[in-house]
Formats: sequence, C-alpha cells, structure tokens
Amino acid sequence: MAVLQIRHMGNPVLRKKAKPVSELTGEIDKLIEDMTETMYINQGLGLSATQVGVLKRIIVYDNVEAGYGMDPQALMNPEIVAAEGIVKDEEGCLSIPEIKDIVERSEKITLTGIDRSGKDVKIEIEGLLARIIQHEIDHLDGILFVDRLGAVKKNLALSRWKKVKKELEAEKSA
Ligand SMILES: [Zn+2]
Repeated sequence: MAVLQIRHMGNPVLRKKAKPVSELTGEIDKLIEDMTETMYINQGLGLSATQVGVLKRIIVYDNVEAGYGMDPQALMNPEIVAAEGIVKDEEGCLSIPEIKDIVERSEKITLTGIDRSGKDVKIEIEGLLARIIQHEIDHLDGILFVDRLGAVKKNLALSRWKKVKKELEAEKSA
C-alpha cells in the first residue's frame, strides 16, 4: 500500500468531473487500497479518487457505525437514486484542511454502485454515513463543501483557507 498525495483546494483537478469505472481491474483494486490507507493516515472519514488526482468515480469511506478504522468501504460509480429529509451538521474536508462549517445534506439516501468485490449494490443509509457519502460524491462532480454554503459564509471560508494554505506552504518550504 502507499500513501497518496491529497490535492488541496486551488488545484484544478478538484473542479473536474470524474469518469465512470467500467470494471474492477487490478489497477483499480490497488488504487482503492492506497486511497483507504491515505484516508486513515489523514484521519479522514471518506476520500474520493479526485482528491488524489485520479478522475475516476471511486470513493472510499469509513463505516462509522462499526467504529473508526474497523470497516473500510469502497464504492465505484456511486449514484444517489433517492433522498429524503434535510439535516445540518458540521463538515470538513481533507482537501481544505482546518476549514469547517455547517452544511445542509439529505438525511437519508438510497445509493447504487459497485462494491469492493465488483458486485452491483443498492443501499439505504442515513445520518453521518449518508453525509460522508454525499460529500464524496460531490467531489466526483467537482463540487466542494464550501460551494454549499451561503455567499457570506463561503467568502469567509475562502479567506480563512487562503491563510491556512499560506501557512501550509510555508511549513513545506521550511
Ligand atoms: Zn472532501
């Protein structure tokens, strides 16, 4: 396994739309393993292929209901086919470190996709897990959680991010 480099907001790849995966190849299997390791080493709850610079519709996430780190999951071509309810909660993103804000999401979603073993699945999920997956699917469409904030909050988040980004870059070159 290998830890991959997570792209930060400002990198154009994060604004691109990812392409569907046609089959579970050895290469994709390896990518899923590396994405899972990258997610856990960065203490994330989910990660999309887009964030590691691969424009394929693949997400990995932690099954938070099983306890952190106990049940890593992956989905290819995830698609929300039904959604109900609205909930607000705090969100962050490994591509926008240190920035957090309250985001509105569907409470419950029905999801289709291909699982880790290459099988077509249809699952119903709610709560934090539903939030994580909606966030990761957004990445596959080039959307970041700050895009879902109102204009004032978004501008605030962007200016905070500018500062954090500078600090991170200074750390890297020090
Ligand atoms: Zn994210």
